[in-house]
Amino acid sequence: SKRGGPGGFRVFHDGLAARSNRVLQLEQGLQRAIGRGEVSVHYQPVMALTGDRAGQAVGAEALLRWHSAELGPVRPDEFIPVAEAAGLIGALGDWVLDQALTDLGDWMAAGHVPADFHVAVNVSAHQLCADLPDRVARQLARHRMPAANLGLEVTESAVLNRSTAPEALRRLHELGVTLLLDDFGTGYSSLSQLQELPFDVVKVDRSFVAGMNRHPRSRALVLAVLSLAESFGMSVVAEGVEDEEQAESLRAAGCPRVQGYFFARPAPVAEFLANLPGTAAV
Ligand code: C2E
Ligand code: CA
Ligand code: CA
Ligand code: CA
Repeated sequence: SKRGGPGGFRVFHDGLAARSNRVLQLEQGLQRAIGRGEVSVHYQPVMALTGDRAGQAVGAEALLRWHSAELGPVRPDEFIPVAEAAGLIGALGDWVLDQALTDLGDWMAAGHVPADFHVAVNVSAHQLCADLPDRVARQLARHRMPAANLGLEVTESAVLNRSTAPEALRRLHELGVTLLLDDFGTGYSSLSQLQELPFDVVKVDRSFVAGMNRHPRSRALVLAVLSLAESFGMSVVAEGVEDEEQAESLRAAGCPRVQGYFFARPAPVAEFLANLPGTAAV
């Protein structure tokens, strides 16, 4: 073709080089990020929509943040995959868990949150290996934190792509840790596969919440997940609730828990605590 000449190749080649250079910078930066204090955890409240605690925060999701000295703020969607590929996710994951348990312990001690408040930490497929349950158990013991206060969020693809995942999940569940199935609806798992895994909570992906009031199929999917989860004895968190109309539709559908910008954005600890809905007086 006209673009297939040396010039076209040149552009293509430079594009590739630039991309791998960025990945290299991210990789090198991530290796030092923890030691340099460049990483932090933001928290987003999980709200009860139904029941006697409707309108209150009943938990929070821990979300990793990285502000690199050289690269500036980098989004997790960009650096998490690099950390996974470079074998750095284990160290980062341990750090997030340690920080989340430290923070939760502080909030409890200070009476900022009720005793059954839970914090959920995201876990990559690469972390779902045989030693994860022991690592988690050790951290819980070190922080004197009951397992019931900790949630671990795992995506469908993570479970299906790791042969060690089902056994790791079973042992984590035995510890008493809450297991949340993240981004539900975006993967390819069959419900029969999921039924055999010990998940306690299904997190409905925000793409379905966003379409709920515009696309009948998105609404149908959310309703189907709610009724299925109920018949499986699982709870549901709807993610990415951005406006009152979505929140109201979910409440009317009986969705027990929600998370999203409409209630609060992920924020550093001080801001998270200052704006914690419904628990300020605790
Ligand atoms: P996720 O686990 O699905 O996390 C939810 C993402 O949605 C977060 O993006 C959050 O900031 C964003 N979000 C929350 N409410 C809303 C909303 O109302 N509207 C919209 N549009 N977005 C909303 P974030 O923090 O950029 O994280 C992106 C992804 O990076 C996470 O997706 C998770 O897969 C991964 N991630 C973040 N922290 C960690 C971590 O510590 N470990 C691992 N393995 N992955 C993490
Ligand atoms: Ca998550
Ligand atoms: Ca999610
Ligand atoms: Ca996601």
